Amino acid sequence: MALITKAIKGTKDVLPKDIHKNQYVEAVMSDVAQRFGYREIRTPTFEYTQLFQRGVGDTTDVVQKEMYTFDDKGGRSITLRPEVTAGAVRSYLENGLCNEALPQKVCYLGPCFRYEKPQAGRLREFHQFGAECFGTSSPLADAELIAFAKQIFDELGVSGLSLEINSIGCPTCRAEYHKALKEYFSSKSDELCDTCRDRLDRNPMRILDCKSPVCSEIASGAPVVTDYLCDECREHFEKVREYLSIMNIEYTVNPKIVRGLDYYTKTVFEFISNEIGAQGTVCGGGRYDGLVKELGGQDTPALGFGMGIERLMLLMEAQNAEFPPAPVPDLFVVAMGDKATAKAIDIVKDMRAEGFSAIMDTNQRSLRAQLKYADKLGAKYSVIIGDNEVDNGVTQLKNMETGEQQEIELNMFVSGFYNITLSDQLEDIEINGEELDFASLFGLNKNEQQGEE
Ligand code: ATP
Ligand code: MG
Repeated sequence: MALITKAIKGTKDVLPKDIHKNQYVEAVMSDVAQRFGYREIRTPTFEYTQLFQRGVGDTTDVVQKEMYTFDDKGGRSITLRPEVTAGAVRSYLENGLCNEALPQKVCYLGPCFRYEKPQAGRLREFHQFGAECFGTSSPLADAELIAFAKQIFDELGVSGLSLEINSIGCPTCRAEYHKALKEYFSSKSDELCDTCRDRLDRNPMRILDCKSPVCSEIASGAPVVTDYLCDECREHFEKVREYLSIMNIEYTVNPKIVRGLDYYTKTVFEFISNEIGAQGTVCGGGRYDGLVKELGGQDTPALGFGMGIERLMLLMEAQNAEFPPAPVPDLFVVAMGDKATAKAIDIVKDMRAEGFSAIMDTNQRSLRAQLKYADKLGAKYSVIIGDNEVDNGVTQLKNMETGEQQEIELNMFVSGFYNITLSDQLEDIEINGEELDFASLFGLNKNEQQGEE
């Protein structure tokens, strides 16, 4: 088997022809993050296994079944991160961010690894954009975090996502709830799957998250957590809802949402799509007031979300979302012969220094082949330089879209390029659907302006 020419199951290449789409999505995310006061944090893609066992929770599917865990050559147990929050908290504590002005707001974008059954929207290496906010218990922070995620969807033009929220309380009120859940599920324990029977004692709330049809059918009749909230958690949840309303953010309360990770308290939320199949949760998050302490820090209320880039992009494709066009070269320089090549080297150098994308054929092929290549690359402009052009100091700059040619001086290439391309752009400007004729606007004769043709 030719394993070396096959990517690992559940991993994905993003090819050069598509990369601008990812870059666009990432740019929107980091721009929105900046406007919400979040700064990027980059943490390693692997950490000690204990961090995730402690942080994500020993009873979760993620830790029990989905982690890429191995011993390194020094015999340490290492895990490829299945999520970023645990590492972000580790870094927050280790680097003393906890001593800086609170709340500390950080965001990240990077790969995560989970050994899951690959399918549409479910990969073994996937990418998450996420945000964490440390040091605030205010319900306004919960609402703002949700607004942050929503702003990203809005700016990417993604529509039709439903926001579902819930409160899963604090350890105090959850004790009561766990008791009620245990009682309910115990009476049906023979029907539960093996994993859930195991969960019954250790973490009955996990049963609500089970994907098996029988378990989820049974779970649909289970007591709901919102009936068990203590006063503080209930008031907190009411405030979150109030702030969401002030922000004009639509949501539904879904008492079945518990999230797959152990660290959540109080608010949890998901943005769900019904357009990308079974893996519809594009973003999930919530409050995790106990995690920082659990990982050795001071008692620190905190919250965050994680957004799956691949799922988001599946949804964007499904909705025929608009992406900016793939970037193309501004200029292709066809050079024929040694003298011309030397001149072309100068020109592309100057153009690149000026910020343009300028390409020449390093293969020094025939004129035809070079023009064909320029066309394939989608270059906006091209010039042909041969011995004659070098001797005369001029050539024709060709607009590859319109075919129009204009004279350009080789020794003043960059300024000539500006002149010609700017006037081309101005001609493209339309006002009220009518093309603006800049030449007549400034009392110029267009032909004169462009030189004799
Ligand atoms: P699911 O219920 O789909 O398994 P989850 O609850 O495990 O999701 P989180 O741990 O909250 O997901 O991760 C946040 C987001 O990361 C998800 O909403 C999803 O968009 C994305 N995500 C999680 N696991 C995968 C995966 N295996 N492949 C692609 N994206 C994923
Ligand atoms: Mg999962």
